[in-house]
Amino acid sequence: MAFLEFNDIKKIVKENNPGGKVTKVDLEGPKVVLYTDDLPFFIDSDEIKSLVNLLKKRVILRSNANALMPPDEAKSEIEKILPDDAVVKEIVFDDYFREVIIEAEKLGLVIGRKSETLNKIIKATGWQVKLLRTPPIQSDIIDSVRKIILNSSKERQKILKSVGKQIYRKPDASCDWVRVTPLGGARQVGRSCFLIQTPESNVLLDCGINPAGSETNRFPDFRASDLAINKLDSVIISHSHLDHMGFLPYLYKYGYDGPVYCTEPTRDLMTMLQIDAVEIGEKENNELPFSSNEVKEMVKHTIPLDYEEVADITPDMRLTLYDAGHILGSSIIHLHIGDGLHNIVYTGDIKFGSTKLLEPANFRFPRVETLIMEGTYGGRYDAQPNRRDAENLLLIHLKNALSNNGKVLIPVFAVGRSQEVLMVLESFYRFNKISPEIPVYLDGMIWEATAIHTTYLEHLNERLRKRIFNGYNPFLTENFKNVKHGDREKIMKSKDPCIILATSGMMTGGPVIEYFKNFAEDEKNMLLFVGYQAEGSMGKRIQNGLVEIPIDVGGKTKSLNVKMKVETVDGFSGHADRRQLLGYAKKIDPKPKRVLVVHGESEKCMNLAMTLYSMFGFESTAPQNLDTVRLI
Ligand code: ZN
Repeated sequence: MAFLEFNDIKKIVKENNPGGKVTKVDLEGPKVVLYTDDLPFFIDSDEIKSLVNLLKKRVILRSNANALMPPDEAKSEIEKILPDDAVVKEIVFDDYFREVIIEAEKLGLVIGRKSETLNKIIKATGWQVKLLRTPPIQSDIIDSVRKIILNSSKERQKILKSVGKQIYRKPDASCDWVRVTPLGGARQVGRSCFLIQTPESNVLLDCGINPAGSETNRFPDFRASDLAINKLDSVIISHSHLDHMGFLPYLYKYGYDGPVYCTEPTRDLMTMLQIDAVEIGEKENNELPFSSNEVKEMVKHTIPLDYEEVADITPDMRLTLYDAGHILGSSIIHLHIGDGLHNIVYTGDIKFGSTKLLEPANFRFPRVETLIMEGTYGGRYDAQPNRRDAENLLLIHLKNALSNNGKVLIPVFAVGRSQEVLMVLESFYRFNKISPEIPVYLDGMIWEATAIHTTYLEHLNERLRKRIFNGYNPFLTENFKNVKHGDREKIMKSKDPCIILATSGMMTGGPVIEYFKNFAEDEKNMLLFVGYQAEGSMGKRIQNGLVEIPIDVGGKTKSLNVKMKVETVDGFSGHADRRQLLGYAKKIDPKPKRVLVVHGESEKCMNLAMTLYSMFGFESTAPQNLDTVRLI
């Protein structure tokens, strides 16, 4: 399918105008918007289908202003149509997008069988409908992201229009080469950022920070090649871990005003973590080179995509996101470049096995010539125990400490591992393997991240989704308790056994440190690691047997004597281990010609690249940062 210009699109619509009902064609980012005086016509007829087939793009129909029912009237009309048990929270009208936004608990009932209810609303009022789920757990982040989007409606329409014009511009150059340059994240875990270029386009895959990095290697290296930040066409974010998106707001401070493509949960989770990072930076006098203003700009410029929704993003690049199975909303990025010239698959971080939360990574693509693959656990000896063994070991450790009246402290990152561990704990409670008296306290951004999980049920695996739709939501387990302001002291003083999940995952800061200082000198307690501990982090040092830790108490240095038990349970990782990575390379369909291994320590990347060559014959390398690789 050839790439179209805006003029081509207008011409196609004019020549194939369904029933002559389209009065104007416009753009909202990659989507084509058709305006009409007669929206009900399109609901009753199939005539739009042949036009969509010709355009091969997402098409949105919107009413002309004169065909809209006044909001007050429309609202009471909608209230009459909607069933009570849909539990509607809010009905708001967006004049610019000519949409009515309906927020409800039971979206299925708002849509109705075969979209019956939805269509009734559109036909009665002329307003298009946008649906939002009320999270079963209240979420401040979801509320504020939704507010930013609604309140910037006029501005966003302008942004989307100009993005659309850029996408469907007349190209200056024909696409006869493709190259990739890692600006960070090659032969390292941290600051992932890959520049993909053609004669016409400049696109970034991810824009992360290196949380454990020093002054000189904390951020991606933008000195590379001829790149000016304001020359970028677009940025695509694979998932919401800081090492993949922590530097994104910086671009908006230094001249970028283009779009960000990612899934909806990624948008919300990354907003949460960036705001948290800005606040922590301010508190700890280690300020990031951007503020919450730029985070807000990023939200306004984000264009969410569903998995497998195809979107043109430049005159010679077409983007599709696929499920990566790593954390909620995580994506594998597929780029179709030129008219069939080249196809890139960038895995981001992947998990190629089942977990309690998500489906395994997608491995079927329309085409792939170059695979850019993560290698975090790609080293020769990087094997993870199977999940059943890991869960059994976790239970043994928990019982051991809890039966002694001890407190169990589990350091975790807010997104991903926390929710996975929560689902395992839920099953322990359900099968009475742990006393129902034991509370699980969640401190840091874990509760908020869990609330975001409950908002995007479509992204969870089928089993979990079915359980929730059938009325049992394991995230709402009574034992799970959000630690609010002031609760922390009480928990620390209490003599009762409990489980605490607290950030940060590698004990580089955050509430986990407070608990640790308080619990460390009591041998009844347990520190339980379930995640990756990077070299140099406090977590790694304690794991390696550090028992005397100097700490600051009221300005004086005191020595903390670690007597609590320190245990590690592997097997809960959101990453594919070496066996799974090789399994992925074996299964990926079709086979790539070339593999670039990134996102891993130098030796692991090189070893995995060598193995991929010897096992499958792929031309495999582990490029370094700022090495430009010409793909065609
Ligand atoms: Zn990740």
